[in-house]
Amino acid sequence: MSTTGIRQVKPKAEGWQQRKDAEGRPLLQFAAPRRVTKPPQHLADLTPEERVAKAKELGLPGFRAKQLAKHYFEHFTRDPERMTDLPKDGREELVASMLPNLLTEVRRLQTDGGDTIKFLWKLHDGALVESVLMRYPGRITLCVSSQAGCGMNCPFCATGQNGLTRNMSAAEIVDQVVRANEVIANGELGGKRDGDNSAERVSNIVFMGMGEPLANYKRVMQAVRTMIDKQQGLGMSARGITVSTVGLAPAIRKLTDEDIPVTFALSLHAPDDELRDEMIPVNSRWKVDEVLDAARAYFDKTGRRVSIEYALIKDMNDHPWRADLLAEKLNARGRGWVHVNPIPLNPTPGSVWDASPIAAQREFVRRLNDAGIPTTIRDTRGKEIDGACGQLVVTEEDERASADVA
Ligand code: SAH
Repeated sequence: MSTTGIRQVKPKAEGWQQRKDAEGRPLLQFAAPRRVTKPPQHLADLTPEERVAKAKELGLPGFRAKQLAKHYFEHFTRDPERMTDLPKDGREELVASMLPNLLTEVRRLQTDGGDTIKFLWKLHDGALVESVLMRYPGRITLCVSSQAGCGMNCPFCATGQNGLTRNMSAAEIVDQVVRANEVIANGELGGKRDGDNSAERVSNIVFMGMGEPLANYKRVMQAVRTMIDKQQGLGMSARGITVSTVGLAPAIRKLTDEDIPVTFALSLHAPDDELRDEMIPVNSRWKVDEVLDAARAYFDKTGRRVSIEYALIKDMNDHPWRADLLAEKLNARGRGWVHVNPIPLNPTPGSVWDASPIAAQREFVRRLNDAGIPTTIRDTRGKEIDGACGQLVVTEEDERASADVA
């Protein structure tokens, strides 16, 4: 196919207006628009040392914090009645001050024969977020939110359309996992084989729910540290945690320096700045080459192979020459450090774009594979419950349902 005569579709809003800044460029929000009341402080917001200090502040011996952490992280218990190893005296107060309720379940939608659950959670201030729990053969993955809303304003993603409400606290992020573990322990996630009595829990986390995780860097990192803490956290493997970013280069470099081998995913979606400037507003600050360099440096430091996410959009970014250009830019930075995960675009409200046709998807994948870049189309879950990539957004119906919840 020749590269001439291919229609270059530019992102264009229909049914909604992309929010603009004073200079008429797509609005980018790195901070919540107004000061909000902070979520109650929770054990998962604190380091183990800080938890001990807090217990002492409450007039209790420091080791009570450890006992409490065990109840929460290992048994998913938040009910003081069940914490019989803690003295009755002061137990309620301890639980109230260190394990306050953070997420109230508004709604749960289940699909894929019970294997996928989308949760709608209400936070203490009424902000709404979602997480998606998915059973796969041999693993259970939770897609978590890191912000209520998102300030990155990517036109093809539903979450960005309402802007950023606020950052989530570390404990609000971690609590999504604990609550999912509780659901699994109660046998409410389908798909477990008959006769399988193994204790199960979330094994993989993807920061691909609402929000830009690297725009909420400190809290996301505290959440990650709590997820991987073997003694006083969830004891998960860092490799099973995927941090996905739209490409905040300075934050990628900071993540590299943390030396925590999480899996790193970059939402690239276009290999050229001309198109990426349109699709990913933050590309106005950090260009394709800079984010690819940062991604490559992440591999150098951690040895973890980087994922490139690429939503395949019909006639927008799915051209064969773009597959070739992507391969060229990745190979220019070495071999074996990256794989590409194209995702056929999921429909979002009011969007004018479609997923690439199967033939275009195959050709895109073939060209990358032929150039030596391992490329596999990502399997999407939860499309029919609007739980798939880019579909998480608070709807009017969600707002109404949440009004009925305390
Ligand atoms: N803000 C982070 C994580 C959230 S989204 C990031 O940008 O990486 C997770 C992935 O879904 C991202 O790669 C995002 O670009 C992609 N995505 C967004 N909208 C989509 C859509 N409509 N169809 C398919 N993927 C989409």
